Amino acid sequence: MEENEKKDILSLLPEELEAEFALLGEPKFRAAQIFQWLGRGVRSFDEMSNLSRDLRRTLQDRFFLYEPKVLSRQVSAIDGTIKYLWELSDGNAVETVVMSYQHGNTVCVSSQVGCRQGCAFCASTIGGLVRNLRASEILDEVIFSERDSGKKISNIVLMGIGEPLDNFDNVMRFLELVNHPKGMNIGMRHISLSTCGLIERFDDLAARNLQLTLSVSLHAPDDETRSRIMPANRGRGVENLIAACRKYYEKTGRRISFEYAMIDGVNDTPEHARLLAKHAREVAAHVNLIPLNHVEERQFQPSTPEHLKRFIKILEDSGVNVTVRRKLGSDVDASCGQLRRKIEKNRKGGQGPV
Ligand code: SAH
Repeated sequence: MEENEKKDILSLLPEELEAEFALLGEPKFRAAQIFQWLGRGVRSFDEMSNLSRDLRRTLQDRFFLYEPKVLSRQVSAIDGTIKYLWELSDGNAVETVVMSYQHGNTVCVSSQVGCRQGCAFCASTIGGLVRNLRASEILDEVIFSERDSGKKISNIVLMGIGEPLDNFDNVMRFLELVNHPKGMNIGMRHISLSTCGLIERFDDLAARNLQLTLSVSLHAPDDETRSRIMPANRGRGVENLIAACRKYYEKTGRRISFEYAMIDGVNDTPEHARLLAKHAREVAAHVNLIPLNHVEERQFQPSTPEHLKRFIKILEDSGVNVTVRRKLGSDVDASCGQLRRKIEKNRKGGQGPV
């Protein structure tokens, strides 16, 4: 069998593995054994020492396994944040970041190679979408970041390269895998999924009744500003987004968090703050302000400290729960997409990702 005809074993849930083993005439417990090997980061059937040689060969013939390679590892001298660039089986690369907080270590994973949402301030979207990541590839970002860093991962944020709701099925499968009691067993309450607002998927997500935190990258409270910096707003609109957030909150009982990157002269006026406060109160959202990371190819600059302060005060005075994200890893190409772009540029002679 050709490599690409083989099944991706790491994307299978234990129940599905059992079904595969039933087909091979193998007992159920084999599925549990293999799930455990895979969860430990073993990526060669030959290392699965409690399986017979024949079974290992059969698996080798039917299933595909790949170990992501570290293309680059940058460790922040300031706060120990680690930024990885992984090489995937087809030569594409994605970024993963490991951040240490008092309450544990958080991994920020990518969900796609590139992105097609076109946000004007973001580096990940510059070369467009190359492809979706498989569930197994997202899972390996977690497993191998933990192994390589030696830092036990307790929290996951889907805030790396890509739009998770644009790769819905694989992302849902990843969540099931990483949450599985026999796998990494990371609780849904320790997972955040960030979206630019693909509201047509909110009902599907709510229907799964996951206890994760939905983060909405709002970045502007009115259509004119938002559509200008986030093409995903065009045809959807802020009003519909807020209505979708409200519905999601009512259905799941989970508070939404609004991400808001402060961009100098673009979305940081008192009017913006007042309208943002209104939206946040309407859906009981928490507001997370992010100092914009300047991206080389983009003209945007972060808001001044004075404007940031003014903005926070308006939100607080309106009773909105607001935090400013601590900037981690600012010396290691902090915002996602930047490292991949830099390395791909070098690899492809200045062209950037294709
Ligand atoms: N596609 C998803 C998740 C990926 S981006 C989303 O849009 O939410 C994770 C967060 O980083 C988003 O809130 C995104 O808008 C933000 N972001 C992207 N580029 C940034 C930059 N240059 N500075 C600050 N935040 C940025």
